[in-house]
Amino acid sequence: MRVGMGYDCHRLVQGRVLVLGGVTIPHSHGLDGHSDADVLTHALCDAILGACGLGDIGIHFPDTDPTYKGISSITLLERVIEKAEGMGMKIGNADITLVAQAPRMSPYVKEMKRILADVCKIPPERINIKATTTEGLGFIGSRQGISAYAVCLLIPVHAS
Ligand code: MG
Repeated sequence: MRVGMGYDCHRLVQGRVLVLGGVTIPHSHGLDGHSDADVLTHALCDAILGACGLGDIGIHFPDTDPTYKGISSITLLERVIEKAEGMGMKIGNADITLVAQAPRMSPYVKEMKRILADVCKIPPERINIKATTTEGLGFIGSRQGISAYAVCLLIPVHAS
């Protein structure tokens, strides 16, 4: 078994679509970035890469490469899962914390889990997503950005 953690943060701006965990969420602002800036999925990608000892998302999908401009982060997660599978590993479970002042995330968590679990080829119960605010404190509290933390356990493909 191998464990990894990931962290990511993106700036909230007007004129961008908000995508979190592969779900498009109606909101006045979206996250800025080279890809779709899905901060939750990026944190999960980094946790998986960390568990694999394969560095981070920036090494594998550099934001200087036009190939990745506007790309869905779910596609990046698919490629990260392929790398883990190449090492004979799959996700045992993942625990993710999304830190955002707004919007309310609870209506979207079930769909996020379904999408992420589908890509990871595991039951949705093995992905936990928690959402919290910072009680109005700091740059997240003032709605300048959203961050996410992820921890993930990798297990051998042939284990249950
Ligand atoms: Mg990112």
